[in-house]
Amino acid sequence: MRIAEVIVDITNSQVDKIFDYQIDNWGEIGMRVLVPFGNRVVQGFVINIKDSTNVDLTKLKSVIKPVDSYVIIQQELIELMKFMVKKYHLRYVDCLRLFIPSEMRSDKVKPLVVTNLVLNENVNLQEYKTKLRKNAKNQMELCNFLKLNTIYQKSYLSEKFSNSAVDKLIDDNVLIEQKEEISRKPYFENIKTTKPVHTPLQTRAIQTILSSNDTFLLFGVTGSGKTEVYMSVIEEVINKGKTAIMLVPEISLTPQVLANFKSRFGEEVAILHSGLSAGERFDEWRRILFKQAKIVVGARSAIFAPLTNIGAIIIDEEHETSYISESNPRYSAFDVAKFRKDYNNCPLVLASATPNITSFNKALNGEYKLIELPERVNGKAMPKIQIVDMLSEIRNGNTTMFSSALLYELDKCIKDKHQAMIFINRRGYSSFMRCLDCGYVAKCTDCDVTLVYHKQEDKLKCHYCGKRYKALTKCPECGSESIRKGAVGTEQVVAHLQELYPDVKILRMDNDTTRTKNAYQKILSEFAKTKPAILVGTQMIAKGHDFADVTVVGIVDADQSLYHSDFRSTEKTFELITQMAGRAGRAKEDGKVILQTYAPRHYAYRYIANYDYKNFFNKELNLRKTTQFPPFTTIIRLLFTSENEEIVREITKLCYNDIKTLRMDNIDSFVYLDVMKSPIGKIKNKTRYQILARITLDKENEIISKMYEICDKYQNQNVSVFVEINPQNLS
Ligand code: ADP
Ligand code: ZN
Ligand code: ZN
Repeated sequence: MRIAEVIVDITNSQVDKIFDYQIDNWGEIGMRVLVPFGNRVVQGFVINIKDSTNVDLTKLKSVIKPVDSYVIIQQELIELMKFMVKKYHLRYVDCLRLFIPSEMRSDKVKPLVVTNLVLNENVNLQEYKTKLRKNAKNQMELCNFLKLNTIYQKSYLSEKFSNSAVDKLIDDNVLIEQKEEISRKPYFENIKTTKPVHTPLQTRAIQTILSSNDTFLLFGVTGSGKTEVYMSVIEEVINKGKTAIMLVPEISLTPQVLANFKSRFGEEVAILHSGLSAGERFDEWRRILFKQAKIVVGARSAIFAPLTNIGAIIIDEEHETSYISESNPRYSAFDVAKFRKDYNNCPLVLASATPNITSFNKALNGEYKLIELPERVNGKAMPKIQIVDMLSEIRNGNTTMFSSALLYELDKCIKDKHQAMIFINRRGYSSFMRCLDCGYVAKCTDCDVTLVYHKQEDKLKCHYCGKRYKALTKCPECGSESIRKGAVGTEQVVAHLQELYPDVKILRMDNDTTRTKNAYQKILSEFAKTKPAILVGTQMIAKGHDFADVTVVGIVDADQSLYHSDFRSTEKTFELITQMAGRAGRAKEDGKVILQTYAPRHYAYRYIANYDYKNFFNKELNLRKTTQFPPFTTIIRLLFTSENEEIVREITKLCYNDIKTLRMDNIDSFVYLDVMKSPIGKIKNKTRYQILARITLDKENEIISKMYEICDKYQNQNVSVFVEINPQNLS
């Protein structure tokens, strides 16, 4: 007897179990199948096949039939599913759904098939022509047109010689139909690149990565040729008959990166990102599954690509938070990458010019192997960063958003027909309160993180402890009443620049202008070929772009991210501004960066201006140690939401009591524990409560799994309970 273990494709915690079904000989592990379920027929996934079952044989049902003719989830991914279910407390079905394109599940997208026609070589065309009716002009012309051993698209012949003529020749068996499946290909620019001669540091980096199956942290300044290192590592891996994954943040899937990979690897590369149409994504994914593509370049979820025999996994810009999924199913692409690295026994490379503090700490501890590329390949120095004090601009009568230093550089840049990029920092947009006279920013007295202004309630709140404060009307430091909430937007900046430079092309890139397909790519290509030009944008313009003629980078309000209510806000600021600065002066011309701030003496800016990551890291790590934040602790949030306010409050209280007992048993492991209404108390009519904890690392796993148990105990139809580990967002 063959028994299939099946997970049904229904999202309901009650049925998220493994069910046994009898299955015929066609069945294979990893296939999608139809099964009877209750009185319905549903899709399911075969995750194992065995020869016995504990189910009463009279009750055992049979798998009806396969959905596809091939396996869609490989063994490795089935193991990964089990790992993720355990680690993140997820449902099986939510994991499985991550592994296949959603287009496939809905069955809305089908393979694109075209019909081709070829001349039947067993037909004597001359003889056939003599039998044609006199007035069959189209058919005659079609016969005269046809040649042996040529493939014609049916649509082409039909248009040229009419449908009826073509159909007649098909009916008479003169033309033979052949179906061909066409892959819908994502857009990319066609360029030819040549492989450069590697610098000694690049060569060493490549060899080190290829020589062991470790996790590496590649710490290389912007322009140090990291992409070339990835491509060469991948090339070697492919030559050995293996495959490779490279993850990049969604926003740095630039035309240049894609074109570079296509130029080097051609059809062997598949691209997965959210900008693809459903058909393109479906086809790219199937090219990977059918082993036509061996290299996958994509955003976070590309880590689930159905490759086998992986020889290298690369995560570019590893400091990016987009590698962590914060909505259900919650997971970290790093954990998944680590799992696949171990499963395939291959190297894993995390790379950045500004590594995550936790990652760099791991590199120093020896958990990761550190590889450094401290210089730009072309030997050019990093562009000079000039810090401009906006408070002194105001004192000197300039209340516009541009400092005189920035205007001076822009004038020069435009006169020389170069390009400029203006960066509008939108992290923590419009959320904090600041005094325009002395630069004072409201902070939590308990946590030392910036308070977030909540407009509806007109209150300031701390997102780490929940404490509330009155909104400022007067500065507590200097008494001034010039208090500003929020910041300038991209539209305002564009309008202002266009007034100053009416004849200059000014492009805008932000969430609003990049909604449509390929819009992002188009803005960048347009910028690339226009001189002079100014590109105004949010974080989107900070990463990965390589424009040779950008000589000026202006950072309009650097502090926006500094005062984000987040213990990582300084780290994020260092990261963003360093990335942004790296866009200037990449080729012949020198670059200049103007950093406008209301807090010119903040230590972050001193390190940023000197490109001094290591000392910044030391300072930041010390701070984290003192304040007991990650990487020295783990932050856990249990989030309770419900439409019924009373029930959610009650459940939160009960749960909190259980967790207090848990703390009693592990008193040394809890450095912080409290319960509160969430900073945003209601979303979509659901009331939100939370329990926040910070725990030490030694008993982390044990405590987290206890918390999962507690969470299960209180989860019911009325209240949903989530456990979040080191969440990026605490609102
Ligand atoms: P990073 O990813 O570290 O910011 P890139 O890989 O984008 O740096 O490299 C910056 C530029 O230098 C690119 O235009 C790239 O083609 C070029 N480049 C990389 N390696 C070399 C090399 N060995 N010799 C010459 N140019 C190189
Ligand atoms: Zn003040
Ligand atoms: Zn606080």
